[in-house]
Amino acid sequence: MQIELFLLSYSSINASKSRFVVGSHVWVEDPDEAWMDGLVEEINENDLVVNCTSGKKVTINVGSAYPKDTESPRGGVEDMTRLAYLHEPGVLQNLKSRYALNEIYTYTGNILIAVNPFQRLPHLYNNHMMGIYKGAEFGELGPHPFAIADRSYRLMINNRISQAILVSGESGAGKTESTKMLMQYLAFMGGKAQAEGRSVQQQILESNPVLEAFGNAKTVRNNNSSRFGKFVEIQFDDNGKISGAAIRTYLLERSRVCQISDPERNYHCFYMLCAAPSEDCKKYKLGEAKTFHYLNQSNCIELDGLDDSKEYTDTRRAMSIVGISSDEQDAIFRVVAAILHLGNVEFAEGSEADSSMPKDEKSQFHLRTAAELFMCDEKGLEESLCKRVMATRGESITKNLDPRAAALSRDALSRIVYSRLFDWLVNKINSSIGQDPDSKILIGVLDIYGFESFKTNSFEQFCINLTNEKLQQHFNQHVFKMEQEEYTKEEIDWSYIQFVDNQEILDLIEKKPGGIIALLDETCMLRNSTHETFAEKLYQKFKDNPHFSKPKFSRSDFTIHHYAGNVTYQTDLFLDKNIDYAVNEHQILLNASKCSFVSSLFPPCEESTKSTKFSSIGSSFKQQLQSLLETLSAIEPHYIRCIKPNNVLKPAIFENSNVLQQLRCGGVLEAIRISCLGYPTRRTFFEFINRFGILQPKVLGRSHDEVAATKMLLGKANLTGYQPLVTHHQVCEWKELRVGKGQQYFLC
Ligand code: ATP
Ligand code: MG
Repeated sequence: MQIELFLLSYSSINASKSRFVVGSHVWVEDPDEAWMDGLVEEINENDLVVNCTSGKKVTINVGSAYPKDTESPRGGVEDMTRLAYLHEPGVLQNLKSRYALNEIYTYTGNILIAVNPFQRLPHLYNNHMMGIYKGAEFGELGPHPFAIADRSYRLMINNRISQAILVSGESGAGKTESTKMLMQYLAFMGGKAQAEGRSVQQQILESNPVLEAFGNAKTVRNNNSSRFGKFVEIQFDDNGKISGAAIRTYLLERSRVCQISDPERNYHCFYMLCAAPSEDCKKYKLGEAKTFHYLNQSNCIELDGLDDSKEYTDTRRAMSIVGISSDEQDAIFRVVAAILHLGNVEFAEGSEADSSMPKDEKSQFHLRTAAELFMCDEKGLEESLCKRVMATRGESITKNLDPRAAALSRDALSRIVYSRLFDWLVNKINSSIGQDPDSKILIGVLDIYGFESFKTNSFEQFCINLTNEKLQQHFNQHVFKMEQEEYTKEEIDWSYIQFVDNQEILDLIEKKPGGIIALLDETCMLRNSTHETFAEKLYQKFKDNPHFSKPKFSRSDFTIHHYAGNVTYQTDLFLDKNIDYAVNEHQILLNASKCSFVSSLFPPCEESTKSTKFSSIGSSFKQQLQSLLETLSAIEPHYIRCIKPNNVLKPAIFENSNVLQQLRCGGVLEAIRISCLGYPTRRTFFEFINRFGILQPKVLGRSHDEVAATKMLLGKANLTGYQPLVTHHQVCEWKELRVGKGQQYFLC
C-alpha cells in the first residue's frame, strides 16, 4: 500500500516569537545548569520573561529559548529521534531522566549513548539478558550494547559484510566496560561449543585482563584507565563461528613507567608483582611497592576494592589461557621487576668531570639486581647508563654523562623495555589466538581514547586528539551518508544539508610535507634544535591558518582549534616524546642478554635502520591511524558514545554541562545538528491528527483519509513548503510525519 508522507522543511518555518505564548514551557540557557526549564510569563518585542522552576526569573532573547516538551514520558524516551524536540536541552533532559531510573542506555537513531552508572548493574549483562537480545529485532528491546552487537552480528551474517563497533568517550566514561560486553556477546553468539574447542573465544576474552594488567593504571579520571587504544578484530568462518582474532594497540603511554603524579598509580602489573606470593617476591628480589621510586612518587599505592595479590594470580591464570607459557611469564615478571630496580638506581658525580656513577651502595645493589634480572652484564649496564658513544664521520667517541643525563638514560631504558614488553604481549596473544586466513567476515571493536583537553596538554594529547579528529571525520561522513540515503529513499531533496568537514584541521596536523607532524620530525632530526625552534617553525608556517594560533603570552605553546574546542599544547617534551629508538648501547646490552626473552625484545638493528636511526612516534602513529581508517572505511560502522556523568566517579550524579560537553566532543550534537537540518521530528499521521485535529475538528469528521486530513490541517495553519512523499510502508508500520526545526509551531 502506498502512503504519502509530508515533510516540512526547516526553511519553510521561521523560528519567531510566535512560537511562544504566555504560559509556554521553555528551556533557557543557564551558566550553572546549562539549561533550565520554566514558563513564559511575559512576551515583549524581542524578549521573553521566563519564570524558571528553580525560582530564577530571567529575560532572554526570544531566539535563545527552546520549547519544552511536556508530553514525553517522565522516564524519557528510548530513542531520542522520537523526541518532540530534538534539541540540546531536550536531549539532555531525556538522558538525565533516564539516568535517574538507572536506564543508562539510550539511542539517537542508530547511535547508542551509554551513561556510566558507576555501580554494578549485573542484571543487565547476564546470560539470560544475552539470550533475550539474541536475534531480537533492533529497537524492539531496550537500548543495550548487546543490541548493537546482535545487529552487527546479524548484518555480518546476512549481508556478508564486515562490521565495526566504535566505542568512544572520555577517560572513565565506560568504553572498556562496554567493549568487554560487546566481546562477551559476540563470543556468546559466535562461540564454539565445548567439544569443538572453546579456546579461541576464551582466549579473546582473557586477553582483556592481560592487557589491562600491563596497559591500565589508576589515574585521576579512572581507577582502571586504559593507557593505550585498542582495535580487536574478531574473525568468523562461514558458519558464523569465531575462527580467529587480531588485536591492534595504539600508543601506549610510556612516560607513566617512570613518572607518576599523586594520586595516580603506575601500571597495575608493578603493584601486583610486589603483592605476589613470597616465593615469587623472593625470586624477583622484590620488597614492598612503596620502596620503589617508580611507584612511590605518588602516595597512592593501594586501591580501594582492588586486591593486588589476587590480581597477580588472576593475571597469571589469564596469561596461561592466552598461551603464554610459564617460562615466558617468569621472564615477563623478571623484566617488570628489573624495571623497578632500575628505577631505584640514583647517580652521583663520578671521578672525572661531568661523569656519573651509582650514588651509593643501595644504588649499586639495585643496579646489580636489575642486571641479574635482565641477565645482562652489570658493568655493561652501568656503562650504558653513564656513558654515551657518539659516532661522527666513522669515528666513535665515548662521552661521559653527568648524573642528570644518566638518570634520563635510565628512564629511557625503562620506558623502551616496558613498551617492547607490551608489544611482545600483544604479538604473543595474536599468534596464540591465531588468524583465520580464510575468514572473509569480521567484527572489529574499537576502544580508543576520547578527545582530551587538560590544563597542560603534551604530545600524547596531540596524538589522541588527532585520532579523534580522524574518527570524527569518519563519523560525520557516515551520519551524513545515512541521512542522505534515507532522504533519497523517501525522495526528499537533501541538497541543502551541509556538514562541517574537518579536513583542514587534519591537513594542519598530518599533511606531508608541511603539517605539524612533518615539522616535528624535521626538527627532531636537526642537531641543536629545541622545542622553541620547533614552536617558532609552527608560528611562521601557520600564522594565517584559521585552525592554528599562538597564545598571547607564550613562547612555545600552540593552540589548535579542534572540532571539539580549542586545545593549547605545551611543546616542551614534544621532541623527546616523538623520538622512538633504543639508544644503541641499551640495544646492544639487552640483545646480548642470556635470557632469550629479553634478547628477543631487542633484536639486532638492520643496517638500513641503523643508518637512518631516526624513527618517529608521531609518524608511525599517523600511519597506524591511516591503516585503521582504511580498515574502517571498508566495513559498516556502529557507534557507542560513552558518557561520564560526573567527575567524582559516583552513581546518581548527573552534571549537565559536563555531559553536554561530552555530547559535543563525541559528535552526538553534530549528528543531531545534521539531522536537524533535515526533518528530525517524527510523528505518525495518527498522532499528528490526534494532537492538532483540534485546530479544525471538522476535518476529521469529513475524511477517514489521515493524509488528506493532515494536509488540511497544515493548510489551516498556513504552512507552506512541505512536499508530499511516496513511501512503501505498511499502514501499521509507517510511522512518521517528519517535521523540520519549525516543529515548534505545531507542538507548543
Ligand atoms: P579510559 O579511557 O580511562 O580507559 P574507559 O572509558 O575505558 O576509560 P572504563 O574503564 O570502561 O572507562 O570505566 C570506568 C569505570 O566505570 C569502571 O571501572 C567501572 O567501575 C565503571 N563502569 C563503566 N561502565 C560500567 C557499567 N556499564 N556498569 C558498571 N560500572 C561501569
Ligand atoms: Mg578504558
